[in-house]
Amino acid sequence: MLNIVLFGPPGAGKGTQSERLIEKYGLKHLSTGDIFRYNMSNNTELGVLAKSFIEKGQLVPDEVTINMLKDQVLQNKDAKGFIFDGFPRTNAQAEALDNLLQDLNTEISVMLALEVEENELKDRLMKRAEVSGRADDADPAIIANRIEVYRKETEPVKSFYQAQDKFVGIDGIGSIDDITARLDKAISSL
Ligand code: ADP
Repeated sequence: MLNIVLFGPPGAGKGTQSERLIEKYGLKHLSTGDIFRYNMSNNTELGVLAKSFIEKGQLVPDEVTINMLKDQVLQNKDAKGFIFDGFPRTNAQAEALDNLLQDLNTEISVMLALEVEENELKDRLMKRAEVSGRADDADPAIIANRIEVYRKETEPVKSFYQAQDKFVGIDGIGSIDDITARLDKAISSL
């Protein structure tokens, strides 16, 4: 199986690039943000709970997120592989993911980390707000909070994969095609 963690700060382009990679490699795309938003728009119990965190720019608690992700993986056990987009966002999530994949006799192949500097991220998120209708993209205070949570809680997850020699940094500035080409190159050299 080819199992990719596509990593990066909010606005780095994980969703856009995931769409490209799933097509090319036939992988199952699991975006925790998309799954939460789907539940929010259907007013499920999970959606109502997630909304209270997402609208403040905070992380949804690990236990809730991990259980949801596990369900999704187990429902797609026959996939050729997965792209994890927006997960893991904490070390606890990374450990849970390793354990889950181990139970399925597989593992993470690589973490591809899109690198984009902070001012560019803020610009991209404000622009995305105009089309996405996402409340968490429209408010500069919430964006700042998301970036801070990323720096404090999510960035350390890089070390988790560095320690396993699975970390690859990718320059996230340039055209969408250029960045896809960089990701492709990293995947072909695995
Ligand atoms: P972005 O990467 O642009 O911030 P996402 O769509 O990945 O957007 O996530 C939106 C929000 O959903 C996050 O700000 C967070 O509140 C919540 N979320 C998504 N994934 C996770 C996760 N793995 N753990 C906790 N919360 C999450």
